[in-house]
Amino acid sequence: LVPPAPVLPTPVRPDPLGVLGVPGEINLDHAASAPCARAAADAVAELLPWYASVHRGAGALSRRCTLAYERARQSVADFVGARPDDHVIFTRNTTDAVNLLARALPAGTTVVTFGGEHHANLLPWPRGSVRLPVPDSPAGAVRSLAAALGELARDARPGLPVLVAVTGASNVTGECWPVAELARVAHRHGARILVDAAQLAPHAPVDLTALDVDYLAFSGHKLYAPFGAGVLAGRADWLDAAPPYLAGGGATSHVGAATHEVRWATGPARHEAGTPNLLGAVALAAVCEALTAADRSALHAREQALLARLRSGLAALPDVVELRTFGPEAPRVGIVSFVVAGRDSAEVAAHLAARHRIGVRDGLFCAHPLTRRLLSEAATRSARTDLPATALRASLGLGTTAPEVDTLLTALATLP
Ligand code: PMP
Repeated sequence: LVPPAPVLPTPVRPDPLGVLGVPGEINLDHAASAPCARAAADAVAELLPWYASVHRGAGALSRRCTLAYERARQSVADFVGARPDDHVIFTRNTTDAVNLLARALPAGTTVVTFGGEHHANLLPWPRGSVRLPVPDSPAGAVRSLAAALGELARDARPGLPVLVAVTGASNVTGECWPVAELARVAHRHGARILVDAAQLAPHAPVDLTALDVDYLAFSGHKLYAPFGAGVLAGRADWLDAAPPYLAGGGATSHVGAATHEVRWATGPARHEAGTPNLLGAVALAAVCEALTAADRSALHAREQALLARLRSGLAALPDVVELRTFGPEAPRVGIVSFVVAGRDSAEVAAHLAARHRIGVRDGLFCAHPLTRRLLSEAATRSARTDLPATALRASLGLGTTAPEVDTLLTALATLP
């Protein structure tokens, strides 16, 4: 039952994005924030000497920065398969992107979510939103959404706008939600759909057109770019009709002398008041370009092999119980949450860091309703009465190696 022998982590990271890392430190916490890709670091280094105001100045530096910022927007638009009339708005992160859309909803919009969401896709929505129970299969999610939307259109709020807001891949279990099917159901009922792609975008192509979804939100810092830049991409009409997310310079086309005499800009500028995060946007776009150029099916296959190695290794440890929403075979990205029966998760995480230089996350992962439910389901499934109240999460990235996975498994097999 003991997993394969440990092999020391190699500093060589044979991934096409050249993800940076610290030799000897095993980072298995990519779902929180991924390390920086070489492409992002290079893009920032190249632009730093030119660093000047965006959209403001007539000087050569400023014009170059404006161009770089708008090129970054185009690269992101290409990365997300934006339709010609979609907007790509730079935000701080996914949370900011979802909050922006929440403020842009037409009056009377009902938002429908599942209880399996990250707090960023649960808490911004207005009162009266519908939270569907966590389904036990992807097909169950589709059925449950169809029933809820049917009811809303028929009886509860006929004629009013509806937005379905779902995760692309769970930050707790890594399980992929059936986004394209949910989009079909939403559209059949006249609703729109937002996909929280914070965890999906780093692992799989996210394409507004191919998935036929209306909005996508994701974070640069989970996509191998530095902190501080995220994206909301999607349909322009609600965004152009909404009050600006922030009121201020850059979001206006005319401001008069009288109080409140203001015409707001349309387009992304309407929601990007203030000096934008040029370096963040450029770094994020550089990663988008590098990922577009990479062989994503090869990256996917590599990650799936590592994930299978991790999950089968965990399954072989008698005290480890995996958390999951759907069946064990449901498609996943490289994220696994689990508990070690009889062990406090925070203590296990601290031990992994102190003894083995392995970084994992412990807690409820900003998805309290889901993680609590999955912990109680894991107790029932495993018939263990000694499961802890919080979980551990290991998440893989482009730089993760098989020896790193094995080191984690060995460390868990030999907990003192
Ligand atoms: N949604 C999901 C699925 C996430 O995993 C996260 C980050 N843990 C967020 C939203 C929020 O992302 P950020 O903290 O970058 O705003």
